[in-house]
Amino acid sequence: MPTFVYMTRCDGCGHCVDICPSDIMHIDKTTRRAYNIEPNMCWECYSCVKACPQNAIDARGYADFAPLGHSVRVLREPEKGTISWKVKFRNGHEKNFESPIRTTKWGTIPSPAELPPPSEADFKNQELAHEPDALNIDGLPALSPDRLKLGVV
Ligand code: SF4
Ligand code: SF4
Repeated sequence: MPTFVYMTRCDGCGHCVDICPSDIMHIDKTTRRAYNIEPNMCWECYSCVKACPQNAIDARGYADFAPLGHSVRVLREPEKGTISWKVKFRNGHEKNFESPIRTTKWGTIPSPAELPPPSEADFKNQELAHEPDALNIDGLPALSPDRLKLGVV
């Protein structure tokens, strides 16, 4: 389901246009406000929703993500380093989540040629070349083989 723009909040800054991977957020030449030119092509990736400084973009959630038509609001606060999610169900229940912003700074991702050559052990490792450093964590969560057997009859 696509995004839509609250026209009274949008100031036409164009951040949503720059970030949309589907190139479907455009600025209307007459109103100077953003709009989704091709709703069927929206991935509902929420990139534009997070990038909008005016909190002017909303998305109608897919049924699997937003069952029973609940609403999802996202607020990106760079000064706090967080992205807040507020999910509101039709029965009034609310769920709130907060996650850290993990955007990689422009130009800081090394090309494969800049990385050290992989060792023999690297080929048997399930982590990608830049993990887990690029995720700013010590290690990725993983199940040990004995944990995998739990629940198997
Ligand atoms: Fe583009 Fe993603 Fe926004 Fe859809 S949700 S308009 S694909 S940035
Ligand atoms: Fe409007 Fe927000 Fe898009 Fe800027 S990012 S053009 S304020 S909808």
